[in-house]
Amino acid sequence: MKRRYIVHIDIDAFFAAVEELLDPSLKGKPVIVGGLPQERGVASTASYEARKYGVHSGMSLRKAYQLCPMGIFIRGNYQIYQAFSEKFFRILSSYTPDVEQASLDEAYLDLTRCRPLYASFSKIVRQIKHRVEKELGLMVSAGVGSNKLLAKLATNKAKPGGLFEVKQGEEIEFLKTLSIESLPGIGLKTQAILRMLNVHKIGDLWGFPRSSLRSLFGLDGEEIYLQSRGIDSRPVATPSVPKSISRETTFLEDIWDQRLLLAHLAYLCDRVALSLRKGSFFAHIIEVKVRYADFRTETRRRLLIMPLQEMGEIYMVARELFLQLASSSRLSLRLIGVRASDLTRTRALSLFEPYSERKERLGIAMDQVREKYGFGALLTAREKMLESIYTFDKERGFVLKTASLTK
Ligand SMILES: [Mg+2]
Repeated sequence: MKRRYIVHIDIDAFFAAVEELLDPSLKGKPVIVGGLPQERGVASTASYEARKYGVHSGMSLRKAYQLCPMGIFIRGNYQIYQAFSEKFFRILSSYTPDVEQASLDEAYLDLTRCRPLYASFSKIVRQIKHRVEKELGLMVSAGVGSNKLLAKLATNKAKPGGLFEVKQGEEIEFLKTLSIESLPGIGLKTQAILRMLNVHKIGDLWGFPRSSLRSLFGLDGEEIYLQSRGIDSRPVATPSVPKSISRETTFLEDIWDQRLLLAHLAYLCDRVALSLRKGSFFAHIIEVKVRYADFRTETRRRLLIMPLQEMGEIYMVARELFLQLASSSRLSLRLIGVRASDLTRTRALSLFEPYSERKERLGIAMDQVREKYGFGALLTAREKMLESIYTFDKERGFVLKTASLTK
């Protein structure tokens, strides 16, 4: 099998680190996120300071309090963590489409496919790590290896804040001295049995033939045999990309006013862009569809070399396509639609990075306001025009106020 280049990247003490970012006075203090000391439930994250007292994630809050009574206990705000997480994955997706979300703050990247794009593999990994840290203000650890298991173990070694690569040919040396509980396939019960057999390090497992591990632990034994040798063929599982994203509106009455149609087009582009952003997709094809008063339907599409996500850019293309249609016939429309297709998860190597990033941030800020107050709370100037004619309906989008204004 061809050598794979897998990166595991993980934000250190994620929830606690976000809390420290929001309230710098918490820095350097034992922070425990998950609930208050007298509450039921478990700690979801403990800062490194709290870990010194033996507190770790998954521990009951009561136990955490016993170990660390001076700890600062915080219930936490999942929505804020989610926003950080989305930003984290947006950055990762700009380097490769092959990103697997292992948890809110943890990801696997398969850089095998895009390795030829980058001159130096370790340099690009360092760059990814640096960019996440700079843009999120959070410390991350990263591990590199030829599969997911080795990459994850490398991250564990790199924590906190480091970067570790298990180089080709050094796998055995790397695994040898790690303790057996570092292998994900080994649970507490298995650990206890292995300890009785005087097995403490991964290297100690190598003396056991496959068949003995199998008879001792069944299928788990098989897994332990492979893991202890650093063998892991699991692919980096990327979520599926939809074929296309489209939005269209059928008017209650046919519309011929071109300004109004363009305003509507802008609104549809805005909706499409919102969905693209949500899925971290970029579109290579933008298509505009119109249906005339006599039910004839026409479409125009454009294939883009640089895929788009941002609403203003999508609108520029859609507008041009719409005007091509408009010039070819007298327009009185009953339907207008916008479709984005040939979707990818990455914009690859963009020369316009700083420019598009700024727009992306604007888009994200708009999403946040709209999530809270509804889509109609924030409209572009072009969409604003629609307000005089339409009312905004949460379910249906823009709904015509009066019929008399059209035609
Ligand atoms: Mg983490």
